[in-house]
Amino acid sequence: MPTSNANSPAITHAGNMMTQPLLISDLIDYAAAHHGNQSIYSRRLEGDIHRYTYRDAQARSKQLANALIALGVQQGDRIGTLAWNGYRHFECYYGISGIGAICHTINPRLYQEQIQYIIQHAQDSYLFVDACFVSLLEPIAQQLSSVKGVVVMIDAEHMPKVDLPCDVFNYETLISEHSTEFIWPSLSPDCAACLCYTSGTTGNPKGVLYSHQSTVLHAYASRNPDALNIGRDSVLMPVVPMYHVCAWGAPYIAAMAGAKLVLPGSGMEGEDLHELIELAQVDIMLGVPTVWLRLLDYLDSKNLKMPSVKTVGVGGAASPRALVEALDKKHNAYLLPIWGMTETSPLATLGAPTKAMANMSDDERYRIQTTAGKPMFGIEIEIFDDDNQPVIHDGESRGFLRVRGPWVLQRYYLDDKPESFITDEQGRTWFDTGDIAVIDADSYLKIVDRAKDVVKSGGEWISSIDLENAAQGHDAVAEACVIGVKHEQWDERPLLFIVKQPSVEVSKEEIYAYLTTKVAKWWLPDDIIFIKELPHTATGKLQKRTLRDEYFLYLVNR
Ligand code: AMP
Repeated sequence: MPTSNANSPAITHAGNMMTQPLLISDLIDYAAAHHGNQSIYSRRLEGDIHRYTYRDAQARSKQLANALIALGVQQGDRIGTLAWNGYRHFECYYGISGIGAICHTINPRLYQEQIQYIIQHAQDSYLFVDACFVSLLEPIAQQLSSVKGVVVMIDAEHMPKVDLPCDVFNYETLISEHSTEFIWPSLSPDCAACLCYTSGTTGNPKGVLYSHQSTVLHAYASRNPDALNIGRDSVLMPVVPMYHVCAWGAPYIAAMAGAKLVLPGSGMEGEDLHELIELAQVDIMLGVPTVWLRLLDYLDSKNLKMPSVKTVGVGGAASPRALVEALDKKHNAYLLPIWGMTETSPLATLGAPTKAMANMSDDERYRIQTTAGKPMFGIEIEIFDDDNQPVIHDGESRGFLRVRGPWVLQRYYLDDKPESFITDEQGRTWFDTGDIAVIDADSYLKIVDRAKDVVKSGGEWISSIDLENAAQGHDAVAEACVIGVKHEQWDERPLLFIVKQPSVEVSKEEIYAYLTTKVAKWWLPDDIIFIKELPHTATGKLQKRTLRDEYFLYLVNR
C-alpha cells in the first residue's frame, strides 16, 4: 500500500466530499433495511436452535439501547459480556456500541484471577452474562466494585437463582420493558466501540480498544473477494468465539454483507457443528485448527460429509498441511489461511484462492495454503532484523514481524507498553507483533514462530511450529507441542510432546522415522515425551510456558 512517511499527515487541501462517520450502528441499520428478512441462527443454552432476522435483531438491539440508557449507562462506559456466540450477544455488540458505550467481551475460559483483573482494569459497570457463566462471577463478586448490575442472558422461565451483591436482571424481562424505537446517536468515528483483552501468555492480559471506524474498515476489507469473500448469498458460521477478537469481526462483516449468520453457541463439538452446517447450509466457517481437526475426526467416524461448505477460514495458529489436504481431498473445501492477532482486529493477511491454483500441483497449492497469506489493502507488514533494518523478502530470511494500518492498535488500553511500538528510519510507527516471520517474493507471509518460542540451537533457529506441524502429520498424533530446553553444548534443543489419538499405539522410534522424512536432521527433537494432555491458554493456544517451567532442565538432568 503506498503510504506517506508521516504517521498522520497534515491536511493541505481538503476534498469536497461528505465526511459521514463510519459507525457500528450503521451496519445493523443497513442489514435491517436492505436484508431485513435474512436469517441469523443461534444454538441456545435453552437447548433449541433459534432463528430470527436482521430486522428482529435491529429491533431488539434498540430495545437494549433504551434499557441501557434507562440504567444510566453513558457514552464511554464499559459494559462487559461473558457469553457464547448467540443472538443476545449479537444484540449486545450493536446495542452497547450503538449508544457510544464500549462492548467489552470477556473470555470465560481465562483463569478466575484474570477475569477479575480484566473486569477491574476495565472498570465495567454492567455485565451481560450467559446463565452458564454466572458461577464464574460468584467467587469474585465482592472484588468487582465497579459492577452495578449483572444481566443474565436466558429466557425468563430458565432464569437461575443468582446470588450476587449487585442488581441482577433477566435480559428478556429487561429489554421487554423498552421500545423498539431508538435513534442511534451520531458519534465521532474515532469513538471507542469494543474492548478485547489479549489472552496473556506472558504477564497480565492487555486491553485493545477498537473504534467504530477501525471496526467498520476491518469489516469492509475482510469481506472483499481476496479476503473472506462474503456476500449476501454467503452463509457464515464463526466458530471462533464472540469473546475472542469479536469472532474475527464476523458479526459486523455478516451485517455489512447481508449474509446469513450462524452462531453455534457452546456447541463446538463435531456433532453440534455438523447439525448446524446441514440446517443452515453453511458455506464459510471460521476457527482455529483444533476445532476443525475435531470436526473432521467426527465426520470420518460417522462417514459424513459437509457438501455445502466451500471455505474453512483458519487462523490463530499455522494451518497444518494435514488439515489443508483433508479438507481438499475428502471435503472439496478450501482451507483459507489467515494471520492476525487481537491487536490487529484481527484479520490482516489471508491466502484467498486464485485462478492460477487450478494449474498448480497439489504440493504447490498446499504450500501456499500453509502460509499465512498476503496483506489486505490497508495493512502493511514488514520484517526487521536486530538492527531495525528491513529483511529481504526471499521466503527464507527471517525477521521480527511488524504491522501498521487503520485497524492496528496504537497503544494498549490504559497501558502504554512503548516497547511494542517501533519507529523506523522513515518515521513510520509499527506495532511489533512478537512473531518471527518470512515473506516470499510474491508477498506471502509465513509465521516461523513466536519470538519467545523459537528454539535457538547453536545460533540457528528451529521453528517449533514447523516441527509441531510435521509431527501432527502422523496419523497417530492428536496434538504435538515443541519447546526449546537447555542443552549444554547447543544452548537449546527441541523437546517434542505428543498426545496420541485415542486407542492408537505408536512408539518413539516410529515418530523419529516419520520425522526424518519431513525435517532436517538437526531439527529432530532430542527426546519425545508422550503426554495425556497439553496445557492450553484460554484461547486454545498451547501454553508453552508451563511446559518450559517444568522441563527446562530435562536434558541437562538426564
Ligand atoms: P491472538 O491475539 O490470541 O489472536 O494471537 C495472535 C497470535 O496467534 C499471533 O501473533 C501468532 O503468533 C498466532 N497466529 C495467528 N495466526 C497465525 C497463523 N496463520 N500462523 C501462525 N501463527 C498464527
